[in-house]
Amino acid sequence: MSAERSAVWDAVIVGAGPAGLFAARALAGKLRVLVLEEKGRTGGAGAMTDGKLNLSPHIGLDLSELGMTEAEAEERIARVDEVFLEHGADRTLYGVDAERIGWWLDRVSWVRHRTAKGFWDITLLPARQRHMGTDLAHRVVARMTEAFRGKGVAFSLRTRVTDIRRCDDGRFLVRSAKGEFLSRYVLAAPGREGAYWFREVARAIGARTRYGAIDIGCRVEVAQAVYDEITQVLYDPKFLFVTPTHGDRTRTFCTNPGGRVRVEMRNGYRLVNGDALKRRKTPNSNFAILNTVSMTEPIQDTTEMGRKVMEFANFWGGGDSLVVQRWGDLTAGRRSRPETFHSAALGYDKMVPTLSPGPGVTPGDISYAYPGRIVDNLRDSLLLLSRVIPGVAHPSTTVYVPEIKFYDTKYETDRYLETNVPNLFVSGDGVGKSRGIVGAALNGMLAAEGILRKEGKG
Ligand SMILES: Cc1cc2nc3c(=O)[nH]c(=O)nc-3n(C[C@H](O)[C@H](O)[C@H](O)COP(=O)(O)OP(=O)(O)OC[C@H]3O[C@@H](n4cnc5c(N)ncnc54)[C@H](O)[C@@H]3O)c2cc1C
Repeated sequence: MSAERSAVWDAVIVGAGPAGLFAARALAGKLRVLVLEEKGRTGGAGAMTDGKLNLSPHIGLDLSELGMTEAEAEERIARVDEVFLEHGADRTLYGVDAERIGWWLDRVSWVRHRTAKGFWDITLLPARQRHMGTDLAHRVVARMTEAFRGKGVAFSLRTRVTDIRRCDDGRFLVRSAKGEFLSRYVLAAPGREGAYWFREVARAIGARTRYGAIDIGCRVEVAQAVYDEITQVLYDPKFLFVTPTHGDRTRTFCTNPGGRVRVEMRNGYRLVNGDALKRRKTPNSNFAILNTVSMTEPIQDTTEMGRKVMEFANFWGGGDSLVVQRWGDLTAGRRSRPETFHSAALGYDKMVPTLSPGPGVTPGDISYAYPGRIVDNLRDSLLLLSRVIPGVAHPSTTVYVPEIKFYDTKYETDRYLETNVPNLFVSGDGVGKSRGIVGAALNGMLAAEGILRKEGKG
């Protein structure tokens, strides 16, 4: 057994995403810390993806879930930002041109009005943002990892944690394929990928959880020229809608100017996502439109519901495929087909999707593949948005499903993210405490503070 495996640790962190890494940073040099990561690299979902840093307390964070004031969140976000900059994140800051943002806010306010059909409600939420880019974010993460390692944090990569048990003396036995680790504290930051696994483990040791809302939606791709005017001011513009047909809340999410639509594999199913490189741009932009769905009676398990939606959408795509549809076909009530997917007669030659039909991506009809209410909300949201940015409802606009964000299990914690199981802390997207890189990093720092306070080192 290696020294690493036989040693007793003060704190074991499960997952080296932004939550785990920022926790490790805060504990480095103060406690003996081991980070266990399933993958062969650190950074989690955030490292190998687009790396948009949303520097707003209203994006990627739920202040009421964290019991945090806006002022405190602002101050903590500034600290997270500093760490990213210290390790080489691009310094360009979007969302600071008050005059141009004012112009957009004004424009949005003119679209918000009552019609015979209902209330057309759209809001724009300005935020400061940075963009690291899929091609450069991993370098920032690699520098961070080296720096934290230099401060004494131990990393064990390719180490999947299989179980966590509580010993009689209150310590934790953390089991992995590589061996067992004893630790006084465990900080679980397993991300969306490890959420379901950790929920079962946490429940088995007595952690109290409940089902939260899940985000289900679609990815929309448009020509970059259509969306450029706003993304030059707000890199990832957050539009919030109340849809007139159902009165549901939807929002735009994860905008990628000059970006690519990507496939994200999850437990053998295909989901859609998007990113952008820093140095190589496409002629398109993409963003998600998400619906927040809660469940009460008779079923509350939003994770299982999301899984079924994902499974059915893939089934409708031919067994294991995304479904992609041109907006022109969706509004005309017909499926998209390979032979007309780029038809000039239908106006579809105006935009060549970055994820074109082929293996794993099937032209079809999302109104069959997806729950009706979500498709209605998509239509309403895109039409609302087209009143602010007219080209988004061009027939060539392309819609992909399923896009689902699994951060729906909530944990009962104190202010420093300690669960009801003493010394078991949780952080990040996988435990329903954040929805983005900055939020996850903030969580990690907060949990580390909680541990240090218990140690009398806070
Ligand atoms: C394609 C894509 C693009 C995105 N773009 C952005 C963006 O531009 N801006 C933004 O703010 N957010 C973005 N996100 C979301 C962002 O990546 C997450 O919000 C963030 O990474 C969450 O951090 P986390 O630390 O909670 O979890 P993660 O980053 O998911 O990290 C969790 C880590 O835990 C590990 N793990 C899980 N289970 C185990 C186990 N049993 N044993 C050991 N290790 C385990 C996983 O391998 C993973 O590395 C994007 C996500 C994707 C998929």
